[in-house]
Amino acid sequence: MCGIVGAASNRDVVPILMDGLVRLEYRGYDSAGIALTKKNKVIRLRQQGKVATLQKEVTKATDFSGECGIAHTRWATHGEPSEKNAHPHVSGDNYSDNEIALVHNGIIENFETLRQKLSKQGYIFSSKTDSEVIVHLIHSYRQNRTVTEAISMVAKDLEGDYSIAVIEAKNPGVVIGTRNGAPLIIGVGLNEHYFASDPGALVALTSKFVVLKDGDIAQITKEAYTVFNNNLEPVERETRKSTIKERSYSKEGYRHFMEKEIFEQPEVIRRAYSDYITGAIQGSFLKDGVELDLRNVE
Ligand code: GLU
Repeated sequence: MCGIVGAASNRDVVPILMDGLVRLEYRGYDSAGIALTKKNKVIRLRQQGKVATLQKEVTKATDFSGECGIAHTRWATHGEPSEKNAHPHVSGDNYSDNEIALVHNGIIENFETLRQKLSKQGYIFSSKTDSEVIVHLIHSYRQNRTVTEAISMVAKDLEGDYSIAVIEAKNPGVVIGTRNGAPLIIGVGLNEHYFASDPGALVALTSKFVVLKDGDIAQITKEAYTVFNNNLEPVERETRKSTIKERSYSKEGYRHFMEKEIFEQPEVIRRAYSDYITGAIQGSFLKDGVELDLRNVE
């Protein structure tokens, strides 16, 4: 499990993204990273360790600010926790050009096959993650297409669960996200929009959010958000009001998050079930073919 966050605004999004990462740290904390579009370039910082370690680098860096970006706190599934494996991952024409940057939550089951295919096309991999195949695939389909079109093609190649957020140097001010089996929501702010793995990441910014369905591809700018289905037809998704309170994202007197998580389990299970019943979370957490209507469970 990892946490992803994205933002487009008319102010510096670095504090928004870093605060979102702190609030998502319960989802993973072995490495963290952030990327921004700035002056038609993608700039990024990554660090092994907790979000606080990344924050120190961000504070030290000169001119690390921008109005559009993505960030990630990782819990490694493929490739050890390290700076090289930390997200965002990048791709570009001359590999060293950071043209497209991506954060990913989930597991790409067919990444070995895709990695071999992309290596044959000349892509050089700088990490051991499954996630890096996604950004190179997007770049490979990007030629003469928009990133949104490229992402809809990539989705057909990927096997596994994922939610992703992507920025592109050529399109500063736009963040694009999609999901399949892993969570991703849009937060609706005042003259700014966000992506996050869960509404809690945005608790200090907005309580208005849109839950994306599997296969949706969404695009946010500071002015607006747009959601497309997997045929790239614009679709309407209901906006919801989050009732999550600020206090859920502190240690609340426990020595560490793991201890807090252990004591919170009964409440978390109750909350998870209630989200499926109200429809706040789409899809099933059961194996394919197993049906259970939670409304009938006493
Ligand atoms: N599979 C990706 C990685 O190892 C994302 C991890 C996750 O979402 O748990 O970097």
